[in-house]
Amino acid sequence: MEWICSSCNIPMENVSDIKMIYGEVDLPPGVGYRCPSCGLEFLDGDYVVNELNPAEQMLEGK
Ligand SMILES: [Zn+2]
Repeated sequence: MEWICSSCNIPMENVSDIKMIYGEVDLPPGVGYRCPSCGLEFLDGDYVVNELNPAEQMLEGK
């Protein structure tokens, strides 16, 4: 499946270095898509479910 940037109307690149910040905590880079023209980023949905939610629970549970 190909993602298209709604602003530039061009295919977005699959990347694995999307910067994620939870509150003041830097999380490991995320996997998702980035528009090579305007720099718009989307996190991959499955990655968010599998990786980000456990991190949230870990942070809230301390
Ligand atoms: Zn764009």
